[in-house]
Amino acid sequence: MTITSKVLQKAGPQEPYKVVEIERRDPRADDVVIDIKAAGICHSDIHTIRNEWGEASFPLTVGHEIAGVVEAVGENVTKFKVGDRVGVGCMVNACMECEQCKNGMEQDCLKGNVGTYNSIDVDGTVTQGGYAQKVVVNENFVVTIPEGIDFDVAAPLLCAGITTYAPLSRWKVGEGDKVAVVGLGGLGHMGVQIAAAKGAEVTVLSRTTSKADDAAKLGAARTLATSEEGFFAEHHGEFDFILSTISAQYDLEAYLGLLKPHGVMSVVGLPPEAMPLHMNRLVGGAKVLTGSNIGGIAETQEMLDFCAEHGLGAVIEKIGVSDVDEAYDRVVAGDVRFRFVIDTATFEDAAVQ
Ligand code: NDP
Ligand code: ZN
Repeated sequence: MTITSKVLQKAGPQEPYKVVEIERRDPRADDVVIDIKAAGICHSDIHTIRNEWGEASFPLTVGHEIAGVVEAVGENVTKFKVGDRVGVGCMVNACMECEQCKNGMEQDCLKGNVGTYNSIDVDGTVTQGGYAQKVVVNENFVVTIPEGIDFDVAAPLLCAGITTYAPLSRWKVGEGDKVAVVGLGGLGHMGVQIAAAKGAEVTVLSRTTSKADDAAKLGAARTLATSEEGFFAEHHGEFDFILSTISAQYDLEAYLGLLKPHGVMSVVGLPPEAMPLHMNRLVGGAKVLTGSNIGGIAETQEMLDFCAEHGLGAVIEKIGVSDVDEAYDRVVAGDVRFRFVIDTATFEDAAVQ
């Protein structure tokens, strides 16, 4: 069975997106073929395809927030059947034998997981992501989208949702905790909703207060502008937990100053450059600085079920396949409320270039 798919592809970091047709790898016995309904745009797609994290492998299709319907299943597939509503996030395989995989933390596979794009697939080809009509994925890396969450609202949960849910769960953020979510973009707006649903008192730390009304609708108690004169001194030692989603350079030491003693700052944003840190900022007050990398497959399912139970989903702006380059510039400018999602039905009429 040959699976062809229109995809959005870039020939190089400065090239515009083009609609081209590719062949997906041949489905194996344990694979699921997915008819993609919606694909979210994550800032990681932009970092990757603009070579901000190193040289990507071109031509390339990105996208790791995938929601769709099962179109076919291999003979050994047991978890899914044709017609199921499913999602795929940032990884499509892992060794499944190491300590991490056995503990449900495939994202930290000791042999390295296979990314949904720009990674080496089981057949030796480079994986191509979700800005596409179809994708072929091992059933172990497919999750169920609960009824009640629309595909376009669900797609961003597959990365932005799990990436914020995992550290909030791991550090047991809940009732009574004063939480700051830094950066109100795709990840941040899910972090606010999830932390609030877990009972925390959430403050959004944004560069300005221009998103304050939206933040309140997402469940934030307040929004503070970090660009305001004297901000870091005024709010010194205020928070139990800080979730940083900032995608560019920032003053890490200044944010650590906002933590209470023994507070935890979990970083999920991945600025391309290293950032300096004097150890006295951690030692004084015995603070915890930690990172978090997406989440495991079982935890991703748990997050989707949590979102369904609490009525959470991404706040999105739906775009067509010809709008993606412009959308990238808007994401980088912080001008997205709060996730762009590609309506993959718009591939239908798009001419192959
Ligand atoms: P967005 O661009 O949607 O959001 C990032 C937010 O950071 C912006 O909305 C803005 O918030 C803030 N920001 C941007 N530039 C600056 C700056 N110079 N100084 C201060 N704040 C700034 O990105 P995403 O939410 O999609 O992704 C965020 C980061 O997380 C990216 O680096 C991405 O690669 C990474 N990521 C990490 C994952 C992981 O597993 N750890 C998974 C997915 C993504 P505001 O306008 O409110 O100030
Ligand atoms: Zn992502």
